[in-house]
Amino acid sequence: MNDIIPDLFPSAETSASPIVIAGPCSAETREQVLSTAREIAANGIRVFRAGIWKPRTKPGGFEGVGREGLEWLREVKTETGMLIATEVANRAHVIEAIEAGVDLLWLGARTSANPFAVQEIADTLAELKADVTVLVKNPVNPDLELWIGALQRIYNAGIRKLGAIHRGFSTYGKHLYRNMPEWHIPIELRLRYPSLPIICDPSHIGGKRELIAPLSQQAIDMGFNGLIVETHCNPDCAWSDAAQQITPEILNFILGTLVVRNSKQSTESLQLLRQKIDGIDNELLEILSKRMAVCREIGHYKREHRMSVVQAGRYNDVIRSRVKLGEEMGMGAEFLRTVLLAIHDESVRQQIEIINDRGSRL
Ligand code: PEP
Ligand code: MN
Repeated sequence: MNDIIPDLFPSAETSASPIVIAGPCSAETREQVLSTAREIAANGIRVFRAGIWKPRTKPGGFEGVGREGLEWLREVKTETGMLIATEVANRAHVIEAIEAGVDLLWLGARTSANPFAVQEIADTLAELKADVTVLVKNPVNPDLELWIGALQRIYNAGIRKLGAIHRGFSTYGKHLYRNMPEWHIPIELRLRYPSLPIICDPSHIGGKRELIAPLSQQAIDMGFNGLIVETHCNPDCAWSDAAQQITPEILNFILGTLVVRNSKQSTESLQLLRQKIDGIDNELLEILSKRMAVCREIGHYKREHRMSVVQAGRYNDVIRSRVKLGEEMGMGAEFLRTVLLAIHDESVRQQIEIINDRGSRL
């Protein structure tokens, strides 16, 4: 897959300005599609996106307008000259989208996680000898091999205009992001396939409007080749993903403030590895803070039951077993003891705050 030089994109290794794909999460009405598209096209964007078939978490939600919306996309193409893009999740979608003249298909995160569905799409593309661009979103779960596997299935179907979309990874519980970026995963993909274009989807990573600008800048700083941004003429009234959609005017503003640095020098691999380290460090901090939150919960329990903070014996066992595990993972016993004891000390400090009623409830 290393020889991919798609013609929609400049080569991933030499790209100058990022490609931008914009449009609503879902096509809702002809009026909404066309008025959004006109504004987007007036700002010089070349690729218009709109979901026609929407994979929804639960039944009963808006599942997309279906075939009818393809006609609206066709009108967008004729009237504005933009390329048109939509999500496909099965054979019927591929056939209908290609028939309607869709230029770019993307596989959604739920589809990429399902090799049967990806293979069905790949077989259909091969059968139709389709000359389209295909972008594969990362699977919902943080599994780089599954993502690469999906890309390979599409590549093996003869698609050479191929790219990846990083849209973050599902996680349980409430977080700053709707889907955790885990930047080290797309960076690893970049290291393995340097010429594969990678597009960032700040809308689905962030889940909220105010995160679109910082996430977009971060992606560009990391050398992503473009952005796919959910853009709607009236975001508050959107039928899906309202909280994360922005107006074409705001998109234009954000794109205008983006700083694109020309950092294509020989140190790029080193830079990528450093970014990978930064991402892992952020995760380490997130995990530590999760651990402290649980310790504070324990603090509340101990306060209610008048228990002492440190239960002698328990921590010696914990340290011994963790050091053994860490050694099996290739780390030194001394280092492990130091780190684990430091974590333990901070956990005790946080519990004492709770027990003395100085800490706030979570
Ligand atoms: C979308 O792009 O609207 C979409 C459904 O995305 P994802 O597959 O990333 O959830
Ligand atoms: Mn969406």
